[in-house]
Amino acid sequence: MVNKLVLVWFRRDLRITDNTALRRAYARAKEVGGQVLPVYFAEKKLLTGPNSSNNRNLFWSQSLLELQENLRTMNSDILIVDGSARSSILELINKIRSIQPPNQRNYEVDSFYFNEDYTEFSRRRDEEVASILKDQNVEINPCKDLVVYHKDEVSKADKSIYSVFTPYKNAWLKKYSVEAGEFAASLSKNYDEEFRISLENLLVKKSAKDNVFDSIEKSTDFVKIFDLKEWANKLEKNPFLAQKGGEKSAQTAVKNFFLNKIYSYSVTRNRADINGTSKLSAHLKFGTISIRKLVANTFHYIEKAPDSASRASCEIYLSELIWREFYQMILANHPHVEKEEFQKKYIGISWENNFKKFEAWKNGLTGYPFIDAAMRELNQTGWMHNRGRMAVAMFLTKDLDVDWRLGEKYFMEKLVDGDTAANNGGWQWSASTGTDAAPYFRIFNPVTQGLKCDPNGDYVRKWVPELAMIKDKKIHAPWELDPIILRADHEIELGESYPERIVDHYIARDKSIAKYKFEADK
Ligand code: FAD
Repeated sequence: MVNKLVLVWFRRDLRITDNTALRRAYARAKEVGGQVLPVYFAEKKLLTGPNSSNNRNLFWSQSLLELQENLRTMNSDILIVDGSARSSILELINKIRSIQPPNQRNYEVDSFYFNEDYTEFSRRRDEEVASILKDQNVEINPCKDLVVYHKDEVSKADKSIYSVFTPYKNAWLKKYSVEAGEFAASLSKNYDEEFRISLENLLVKKSAKDNVFDSIEKSTDFVKIFDLKEWANKLEKNPFLAQKGGEKSAQTAVKNFFLNKIYSYSVTRNRADINGTSKLSAHLKFGTISIRKLVANTFHYIEKAPDSASRASCEIYLSELIWREFYQMILANHPHVEKEEFQKKYIGISWENNFKKFEAWKNGLTGYPFIDAAMRELNQTGWMHNRGRMAVAMFLTKDLDVDWRLGEKYFMEKLVDGDTAANNGGWQWSASTGTDAAPYFRIFNPVTQGLKCDPNGDYVRKWVPELAMIKDKKIHAPWELDPIILRADHEIELGESYPERIVDHYIARDKSIAKYKFEADK
């Protein structure tokens, strides 16, 4: 007789509620009379590598600490291994096998559950881990959890993959309508609580005599345990971070959005000066909320909408969640987009990449107030409104002629919700190189964008305080004001207290259109 352990590897799914891998691991443990052991591999490459971000590390550590706390209240814990799964999994399994429990029933790892991710890095890592475990008699179970439908579940009649959003969305909705009941179950009152109680019984106990956690954590021959608290303490604090990690904060954000905002989302989502969106992006990135529950909840609000406008608002919100699925699906089916343009005709398109202009853009010093406000919001809070993201990305690629990959990388450095699929999708949309992208000749005017998304100028006043003395719409184009009035009435000197525009939008626009046209006609 052996003690069977079912390992559940947490990754970007830092929650107990409605977590597919955790639920399946629990079911397996129940079936084989075993126990569930939660594991996390703290991989240096992800924490400090070129794609890491202090803002995301803050959110991540808050979320993982909360998950650990949560498991501790269930008399269990999570084993946080200092090292990658590739380098440590075998050692971990051997360590578990070598534990000598007092009752002489040795431990055996029965199976290994985790939720899939679709970046190239994750797919390669998972393949390697699978190949390491091939001869170990440990069953590996990748689960779908990051999305409602994964890469080939929503396809055309001939089984080919969509590359245009609207037909994809329609097919997605059609499939969902058939399966909606299944998802709605996750909203029932006792769904999470019942699972929590059952899970508690099958989790490896922290306090048991034959304490697995202790045996591993204190052993000297095992790779180190990661000191999450100490590591989190060393991170640069950001008191302005737009989203706080952890399941509790996700639940608060969900409640706030559904109770107060969803029925006006169709209007407020276009306003950078109004806090009208759900701010759930980082929670979706790190899985502190379940996408299935979020979608099911949106349908619930659609059903009980008091009027057609409220219903339409919910439907638009749902569309955004489907955009998220769409970009995950594109990344999974077309991994090359991480490095190059989705549209083959634009692969190798030239970029001026002027360093000074790029720096001005990064620092919110382009002389275009709406662009600068959005960049400063990003720099301070790690978040930017979607309209801002579209405007600054288009400005960088079209007006400043800087490679979208540089902008994408800068966003990844700053964004608390930085997600390869959504970020790449957004950048390639703005650069007109992506799937279903903005046509290259439809270039946003940064002033018009400001007037649309911030009609009273409050957003610019908040983030570009140098211009705050301008009390009307002219704040979006201060160069149109008489310099004498600017100085006398508003204490602004263009080129001194606030920069002159670094490019003329109309000249840059024509140049960009000619460049794209040339590439497209080649
Ligand atoms: P809400 O308006 O409340 O939307 C709800 C959710 O829908 C979001 O949390 C997000 O998960 C999803 N969503 C909304 N719009 C999109 C979209 N266009 N594409 C994919 N998913 C969407 N989103 C990220 O989550 N991570 C990124 O790294 C990211 N980078 C972007 C880069 C650019 C250049 C652009 C144009 C967009 C990017 N987006 C990204 C999409 C979008 O801007 C953010 O998801 C949104 O602003 C997050 O705020 P919210 O949660 O309040 O959104």
